[in-house]
Amino acid sequence: MKIDILTLFPGMFTGVLSESIIGRAVEAGAVDIRVTDFRQFSTSKHNTVDDTPYGGGGGMVLKPEPVFAAVESLVTQEGPKPRVILTCPQGKPYSQELALQLAKEEHIILIAGHYEGYDERIRQHLITDEISIGDYVLTGGELPAMVIVDSVIRLLPGVLGNDTSAELDSFRNGLLEHPHYTRPYEYRGWQVPDVLISGHHEKIEQWRRRESLRRTWIRRSDLLEKAELTEQDREWLQLIKTEAGLRKDI
Ligand code: SAM
Repeated sequence: MKIDILTLFPGMFTGVLSESIIGRAVEAGAVDIRVTDFRQFSTSKHNTVDDTPYGGGGGMVLKPEPVFAAVESLVTQEGPKPRVILTCPQGKPYSQELALQLAKEEHIILIAGHYEGYDERIRQHLITDEISIGDYVLTGGELPAMVIVDSVIRLLPGVLGNDTSAELDSFRNGLLEHPHYTRPYEYRGWQVPDVLISGHHEKIEQWRRRESLRRTWIRRSDLLEKAELTEQDREWLQLIKTEAGLRKDI
């Protein structure tokens, strides 16, 4: 997979792309990442990439020429058609589903904006997607680009070392993940649920599924509307709701 990031601040990516799991994936060649400063595509004497908005008002707007030129320099006629993604608070809300979709692409180009926004013609004639990482406004698209890169790379085959670990993550099956425990068995008087040390794999799986349902119902009941649930899941949910009615701490 090839990922191109277009930014005015390439230095911001150094740590993210060289440390931990992402750093190892890049080093092992699981992904080919290039960070390009699109200021180098400016055609103006002072290398400007932004200008004041037509119609007046505050803030600077990214000009179309350097962004179009930078993207076009990365696309070859013979190569795969890339997804060209604009990071933007007005875009489609980012999700694990979208990350899974992007992880199947051969080439992604991420455009990190800055200032007030983009010349609208970039949006209309250059990109394939607009992605928002949440309903808040950041100073630039670098952090959103990092979020997208991290969430996509960890889904690539072999990156997590154990291919199954991403499959159990929250959102993968439409639910939040079950709770985890590790040694010691007892800490400050709080014990690990007995089923987890029973060695009974089927019962452990059932407990995990039930706790995953419980957690999702308590924290994100909206997810249950779309999740694929079995008859057994529905029975457990009913039980969980009844138990919650009896307990005041949920
Ligand atoms: N004036 C714009 C608006 O109200 O929609 C916000 C511009 S913001 C200050 C500058 C840049 O940061 C955006 O062009 C985008 O690249 C990035 N950005 C900010 N918040 C974002 C978010 N929640 N998701 C994705 N990108 C974001």
